[in-house]
Amino acid sequence: MSEFTVQGNGITELAAEFGTPMYLYDGDELAGGLTALRERLHPALEVFFSLKANPNVAICRLLHENGARAEVSSMAELLTARRAGVGPRDILFLGPGKSRAEIEACLDEDICAIICESFPELAVIDELAARRGRAARVVLRVNPNFSVKGSGLTMGGKPRQFGFDEDQLLADPELAARHPHVRLMGVQVYMGTRILSEDSVAENTRQILELADRLTAHLGFAPELVDVGGGLGVAYFDNESDLDVDVLTGLVNPLIDDFAARHPGTRLVMELGRFLTANAGTYVTRVQYVKTSHGERFAVADGGTNHHMAAVGIGSFVKRNFPIRVLDRWDEPASETWNITGPLCTPNDVIGKKVELPPLRAGDLIGVLRSGAYGPSASPVLFLSHGHPAEVLVHDGRARLVRRRDEPADLLRAQEPEDAPAEPVRS
Ligand SMILES: *Cc1c(COP(=O)(O)O)cnc(C)c1O
Repeated sequence: MSEFTVQGNGITELAAEFGTPMYLYDGDELAGGLTALRERLHPALEVFFSLKANPNVAICRLLHENGARAEVSSMAELLTARRAGVGPRDILFLGPGKSRAEIEACLDEDICAIICESFPELAVIDELAARRGRAARVVLRVNPNFSVKGSGLTMGGKPRQFGFDEDQLLADPELAARHPHVRLMGVQVYMGTRILSEDSVAENTRQILELADRLTAHLGFAPELVDVGGGLGVAYFDNESDLDVDVLTGLVNPLIDDFAARHPGTRLVMELGRFLTANAGTYVTRVQYVKTSHGERFAVADGGTNHHMAAVGIGSFVKRNFPIRVLDRWDEPASETWNITGPLCTPNDVIGKKVELPPLRAGDLIGVLRSGAYGPSASPVLFLSHGHPAEVLVHDGRARLVRRRDEPADLLRAQEPEDAPAEPVRS
C-alpha cells in the first residue's frame, strides 16, 4: 500500500524519526513555486516574502536563495530575515504599531525602507533619524479610496488602522517639509489576502501604480519604490481554483512594463506570504483514539487547532475543510465520514468536519495539505500548554529538523523567572 512521500522520504519513517504532530515542508515545492512565478513575472517586479505567513528561518533562507527578498513586521522577523542571509537593502519593515526599538533597528541596520503607517509614527521616525544625523528612507502605506472586489479581506476604502488615508495625504502637501530627516521615497498599498482572481490582482496593480504616480506628484517626491501589495491566494476548498500564473502575469506584466518605462530605476515590489509557502507544507497529526458519538465518527488526533487554527475554516460561517488525507494509506479510497479533532478541551478543536476518508484506526497519520502558510505562528500554540509543533524541511532529498517541538520545560522556564536577572528597564 502506498504512502505519502516527500522527495522519496516516506511519511511513516519521517513520523517515526521526528514525531507528531509536525509541519512537514517540501523544499522542492517551495523553490519550484517561487521560480515558476519569477520566470513569468516581469523582471522589474521584485518578490518580497512576507515572513508573517511562515517565520521559520530555514523557509526564509530557501526562498531567499531562490530570489525572494523579505518583508518583516517585528524585531524577531527582522532578525530572522538577517539570519536567513537577506541583505538589509532587501528588507522592508511594515506594521501599524512599530516600537521605537524596532524603528531604531531599521535605521541602524539601514534596511531598504520603513513602511510608515501613520502621522505620529512618521514623527517618531523623523526624531530617531535626526538623532543619528541622517535621513530615514520611508515608504508611505496608503489606505486608498478605491477597493477592488475579489479578496477574502478587503482593505481599501474603509476605516482601518493601516496606513494613511489617501485623502489625508492629498490634503498635506507639506508632509515632506515637516520631516526633514525623512526621505519619502515610495508608496505601498496592500489590498487584501486570498485573492484568487487574476483580474482582481491586475486591477489592484493598475490602480496602485496610478495612485503612486498621482500621490508622489502631489507630495513632491520621486517614486523610488512602489510596493503593489499582493495577497495572491491558493485554493483550499472544493469551490476554489488556483490562480493561473500565465494568465496573471499576462495581465500584470504590461502594467509593470509601462510604469518601469516611465520610471527607470524605481524598485517595484510584490509582497507575498501565503502564495510562496502554503502548498509546500503539510500538517501531520497522528490519530490517538477513534470513537463514535450520536452516530458520528470521531478520530481524536495528537494535534489540532492549537497548531492549525486556519483549518477551523476561514472567514466563513459554514465550516469548509482544507484538503485532508490519510498519509500512511494514501491510495485507499474514501468510504466513511469522519470528524478529525485535536487534543483541546473545546468543541471547536475540529480540523476536519465530515471528511470522506478510508476507515481510520489509532496510529494513522492524518495530513492537512496546503498548510505551509499561517500554521503554528497564527495558531494558539500555548492553549492547554501543548506548545509549538516540530517543523521538518526536506531539501535536496534530505529531511532536517528546522524547529524542535516545545517541551514542557520550555513552557515552564519562562514563568516565575525570579532566578534569572531582571529585564533591563527601558526608558
Ligand atoms: C499579511 C500581509 C501580507 C501577506 O499576505 P498574503 O496574503 O499571505 O500574501 C503582505 N502584506 C501585508 C501588508 C500584510 O498585512
